[in-house]
Amino acid sequence: MGEKQDIKSYNLTELTEQMEKLNEKGFRASQIYRWLHKEKVTSFEEMTNLSKELRQKLDEIYEIRNVKLVDILISDLDGTRKYLFEVKGGSVIESVLMRYHHGNAVCISTQAGCRMGCKFCASTLNGLERNLTASELLSQIYEIEKNIGEKVSNVVLMGSGEPFDNFENVVRFIRLISDENGANISQRNITLSTCGIVPKIKELADLHFQITLAISLHASDDKTRKSLMPIAYRYSIDEILDACKEYFAKTGRRITFEYSLVAGENDTVMEADRLSALIKGMNCHVNLIPVNPIKERNYVQSGKKAVEQFKSRLEKNNINVTIRREMGRDINGACGQLRNEAMKGRKEKRDV
Ligand code: SAH
Repeated sequence: MGEKQDIKSYNLTELTEQMEKLNEKGFRASQIYRWLHKEKVTSFEEMTNLSKELRQKLDEIYEIRNVKLVDILISDLDGTRKYLFEVKGGSVIESVLMRYHHGNAVCISTQAGCRMGCKFCASTLNGLERNLTASELLSQIYEIEKNIGEKVSNVVLMGSGEPFDNFENVVRFIRLISDENGANISQRNITLSTCGIVPKIKELADLHFQITLAISLHASDDKTRKSLMPIAYRYSIDEILDACKEYFAKTGRRITFEYSLVAGENDTVMEADRLSALIKGMNCHVNLIPVNPIKERNYVQSGKKAVEQFKSRLEKNNINVTIRREMGRDINGACGQLRNEAMKGRKEKRDV
């Protein structure tokens, strides 16, 4: 028998077609969809309003792809939780829950590993293992909701992986998570962060989603950007900014620019001025992130004073700017570090 079909990645229309193929009534699809995306069950067993025969039949044809909880780190400071999940095939991924007054935000991974090679990032150190399916993207959120017994209101696609390197599954995920028949999370509460793959920014713009697009800029000129992010050899800052303008024109959504401040690399006031000149007049917002040092690289976080000066200079130039609040400082390895530690641990276990 071939691979079982991934039933949680289907939208309601596709699921209805599947049921018709099995000579089942159309309303079965709504029932199953509800079990998967509202009740968030992980087995056909639990779908108690279906006959035993149908449940058995479904189990033969389909699988309910899930992520399996391996570990949780909980911050004593602000309740931030880092989750380590295992996915089919044995890869591990991480997701982060951040608790705010306005609700629960979850940062999910879009790939196991990453192949973008950004110099300061831990997620890319071991390359890409595989893309995650739409069902695995959903499951990170569903499992966290079950774990805390509360709903998640905001989603950020900012964990390990490059969302645009897994475009189809990510688009499918956005449609499913914002579907009113499912988890019904508003697209306005979803943020997608990319290293700047220009053709995909344009493709996303054409879908007219209401999500926020965040661009990992991290530099104010192509030379500096190339020294930090290999993708800068493919697309220039000018091309990225043009695509962002198109995104705004088509969606009306303000762009976020992420700028990780690395001491001595990109954090002078001259660079703040150059950044201001680049994005002047755009409907945008800059999010400054003091770089989170990883032990495999020598990058150093900009000092408090440099961060403040960079911020004030942007403000003086009339650019909207915030410094990202550091959540879960006590458990705060940089993105991908928990996963890397877990992978190392597993390898060591295997080696003995
Ligand atoms: N691939 C996507 C999303 C994942 S990374 C992207 O590039 O945007 C999410 C954000 O964290 C990006 O802005 C990334 O550049 C940044 N980041 C990664 N490692 C970091 C580190 N060690 N310190 C600070 N920011 C980091």
